[in-house]
Amino acid sequence: MAEDRLYHLAHHDPLTGLANRELFSRLLQQAVVDARRKQKQLAVFFIDLDHFKQINDSMGHHVGDQVLDQVSQRLVAAIRQSDIIARLGGDEFAVLLRDFESPDDMVPLAEKMFKALEKSLQVDNSKFYVGASIGISIYPQDGVTSDVLLRNADAAMYRAKGNDRNTHAFYTDELTRKALQHVQLESELRRALKNAEFELHYQPKYDCRSRQIVGSEALIRWNHPQKGLLMPGAFIAEAEKSDLIIEIGEWVMREACRQNVQWRQQGLNPGKVSVNLSGRQISKYSLVDTVKEVLDATRCQPQWLELEVVERFVMSSPEQALKVFEQIHALGVQFALDDSGIEHSSLVYLKKLPLKILKIDSSFIRDVPEDKNDMAIIQAILAMAKSLGLTTVAEGVEKPEQLAFLLEQGTDLFQGFLLSRPLPAKTFEALLKA
Ligand code: C2E
Ligand code: MG
Ligand code: MG
Repeated sequence: MAEDRLYHLAHHDPLTGLANRELFSRLLQQAVVDARRKQKQLAVFFIDLDHFKQINDSMGHHVGDQVLDQVSQRLVAAIRQSDIIARLGGDEFAVLLRDFESPDDMVPLAEKMFKALEKSLQVDNSKFYVGASIGISIYPQDGVTSDVLLRNADAAMYRAKGNDRNTHAFYTDELTRKALQHVQLESELRRALKNAEFELHYQPKYDCRSRQIVGSEALIRWNHPQKGLLMPGAFIAEAEKSDLIIEIGEWVMREACRQNVQWRQQGLNPGKVSVNLSGRQISKYSLVDTVKEVLDATRCQPQWLELEVVERFVMSSPEQALKVFEQIHALGVQFALDDSGIEHSSLVYLKKLPLKILKIDSSFIRDVPEDKNDMAIIQAILAMAKSLGLTTVAEGVEKPEQLAFLLEQGTDLFQGFLLSRPLPAKTFEALLKA
């Protein structure tokens, strides 16, 4: 018994009780031998949690450990008993799958895992959402040894991370040139700017009471010549690593203003257009001149434009942000605080900033009306906004019950799939006409 116990300790992760990396490699190696003999395929999933580091850093290891434990239980529940799951270390897990018909069968399985992680995790009195990125490699085409299969699943996972959260990616040969791709994305983004491959989609903002369109949020899309329409999750983070984001951000502002003015000239009433700002843009005093120049060049009135910023960008250099915001505010352009409530607020600074609009993050709206805590938080945010004289916008409204609750609580505006997704300019125009 003591020997069994020692073996178990040496081959399992003490926190989750799952197999460890060493045991997983060994079982995978055996499975490869077996699959070769029977001429069968294998699949390796490499699963990495999104933003786990933030939870660990801000809430401590005790909370981080419990999150990992709960995640492992959900993953175990999502797979078959014959599948092998391991914790490789940190926030990385691996799953070995056998007995399937085609690699395509792996897609619904990945979806099932995302689904299993979708509902919030509860630790002590706090709630957490964790997403995941999954990379998939297939024996024999992506590797014939356990090391190579695992390494290639890992490379595919990195590719999945480059897209939105909760995505999976299969390994492909080109991934071995991953480092190259990085450089490539940057040069592709430059080309995209030059060749006008970006476009804006507009998500209507509605008045909660009248359900009239009062404006829109401009959201960038990349019409990639090979990959098709890409969402901001696939490229904005990369652009934010360099001054590219400043050029892209300026293009977005100019295009949003140009389009807004054009619609007005056609006799339509598009309301205000909101444009998202990145940290690097705020950190430059030249932003003030850019806004001035864009408004001038497009003949856009300052009150037709609204700028959205997230707290993280403001708090990274609050004094600088305050100065820049005040100057832009003096031009007549209003600021909205995006994704409110998800980050630790410094109320002192929030009060100082010339903010006029508060956007309640969709993560609070998602579980209404089931989650009483979220509803209490929304009420608190609304009360704070009201006492500071701010307009409130709820993001990510998908269900009528959610709108009913927000309306009852006195929210001013909302945007969400319930009434409209972000739309190409032509479609938004048709909606305005209708
Ligand atoms: P955001 O500013 O918070 O934008 C709202 C996001 O929520 C959009 O995603 C929108 O499609 C999505 N959304 C709206 N209603 C619903 C709903 O009912 N349910 C769900 N599940 N989602 C909903 P999108 O377009 O993928 O944009 C993601 C983020 O990318 C934006 O978050 C913003 O931070 C950033 N982004 C977009 N365009 C730009 C841009 O021009 N410049 C910069 N710097 N960032 C941008
Ligand atoms: Mg926004
Ligand atoms: Mg937002």
